Amino acid sequence: MSLRMRLDSEAMGSGLTSQRVRDRLVERLRASGIVDERVLRAIGTVPRHLFVDEALATRAYEDTALPIGHGQTISQPWVVAKMTEALLESAPSKVLEIGTGSGYQAAVLGALGLEVHTVERIGELLRAARKRFRQLGLNIRSKHDDGHAGWAENAPFDAIMVTAGAAAIVDALVDQLAPGGMLIAPVGSAASQELLRLHKDADGQVVRQTLAPVVFVPLLPGTID
Ligand code: SAH
Repeated sequence: MSLRMRLDSEAMGSGLTSQRVRDRLVERLRASGIVDERVLRAIGTVPRHLFVDEALATRAYEDTALPIGHGQTISQPWVVAKMTEALLESAPSKVLEIGTGSGYQAAVLGALGLEVHTVERIGELLRAARKRFRQLGLNIRSKHDDGHAGWAENAPFDAIMVTAGAAAIVDALVDQLAPGGMLIAPVGSAASQELLRLHKDADGQVVRQTLAPVVFVPLLPGTID
């Protein structure tokens, strides 16, 4: 599937939201240590300006987190790239994301040809994300739920990515990881988190590794409309 083919001229943007601006972001990410060409290509393809409010569209290709309403943010492109790069190391095909937010991270995973499942606790954000997936012709499965429970009906997953910070790794998510699978999650206090990578080996043994310091909005319990 070629995502690029499915974009109409409006989606491709103009001026400050054009392909040229997207290419410049890709070069900035490359300069800050992102090496996986597949990830750089996906970020160069997905129109991030469609994942934020129109008023913020001209800032969509800065390497910064931006507000998406409800006190939530679309992650910084470098963080999206870093997490995606780490995730691809386990060569996954079926992926679960917790914290759909704007849908941008899920769209980047979708553009990589992965089978993406994503869970969001705020109904309004999820509805907006679904509209974007449809507009871009991305086939992404999504659910309005508390991601602490993962998505048992569709488990196991080759990889799980949590895009909200928690004090500890959620056990239910580790349980839904396939042998050989990888989980990436920001863990720590509200003020300071580390991006952790957990690898589950063929015997179910789990090995942890710290990737980078990050700041994410908190993983919260329950759902809201
Ligand atoms: N991946 C998102 C970034 C979202 S910010 C993007 O690309 O835009 C984190 C998101 O996690 C928020 O939308 C927040 O509502 C959601 N979230 C927080 N706790 C959650 C939970 N328990 N289950 C599902 N989503 C949760």
